[in-house]
Amino acid sequence: MLTILNAVELSTDYLNSKGVESPRLNAEILLANILDCKRMDLYLKFDQPLTKDETTKYRESISRRGKREPLQYITGKVEFYGLDFLVNPSVLIPRQETEILIDTVLSQVDKEIKLGILDIGTGSGNITISLLKHLPNSIFTSLDKSEEAIKTAKNNAILNGLENNIDFIIKDFNNYELNGNEKFDVIVSNPPYIKLQEYSTLDKELLNYEPKDALTENNDGFSFYKLISEKADYILNEKGKIFFEVGINQAEKVREIMVQNNFSNIKFAKDYLGINRVVYGEKN
Ligand code: GLN
Repeated sequence: MLTILNAVELSTDYLNSKGVESPRLNAEILLANILDCKRMDLYLKFDQPLTKDETTKYRESISRRGKREPLQYITGKVEFYGLDFLVNPSVLIPRQETEILIDTVLSQVDKEIKLGILDIGTGSGNITISLLKHLPNSIFTSLDKSEEAIKTAKNNAILNGLENNIDFIIKDFNNYELNGNEKFDVIVSNPPYIKLQEYSTLDKELLNYEPKDALTENNDGFSFYKLISEKADYILNEKGKIFFEVGINQAEKVREIMVQNNFSNIKFAKDYLGINRVVYGEKN
């Protein structure tokens, strides 16, 4: 019978041989998920034997991870901006750098007033839900073209007790029209921004498992910045703001796109690695 320590050590070697980064951490997180305990608690019971059922489940998880399925799709969850989110292959796994986008929006808007906010490509709903948590007076319209993604986002809103101020809509932004005369005060988006040429060079975890449409628009990586900036002319209120997450080396070009579309006061925010990660500005 395997003890917790044996199981972790064996799986670490296996994941390492499959090219998984941080194999020990992965092995521990997957076992803690099966035993429904905190990772650190494993250290208190290293000598404890695993039951047959636990061993079977653990083998299955390790085998999936060995095929380079992302850890978060195996556990089905991820933490983002201090909140819990359910994830599955219909949604992009929320990334740490996207927290900079949340910080930037929160630092630039008036938290007391009722803002109309449009989230384009909501995915798991991580941006909408994290913002709403801190902007309880605001109203969100959150779009995604994938029905499964919208289902996941709705579940995440319920999980976090924040389903009331959000209108989740299954819609490709390419075909989005305003509902009546209601314009928005803020647009926020982490659009697909990977160049088609670069897409095939991504890690297996992204390439084989995450939704392709969430990562690339099959073009030069700038289509959505152009489309959103152009359309903003009629969907944003005067002095309305756009906040974009951008990829490495895209900030300057996105700034130009925004300038061409009558935005001013354009600024960048850096991520933890010093990369310009957020571009934001105001409609003239
Ligand atoms: N809004 C989600 C996120 O930021 C999904 C973005 C996307 O699918 N491109 O993680």
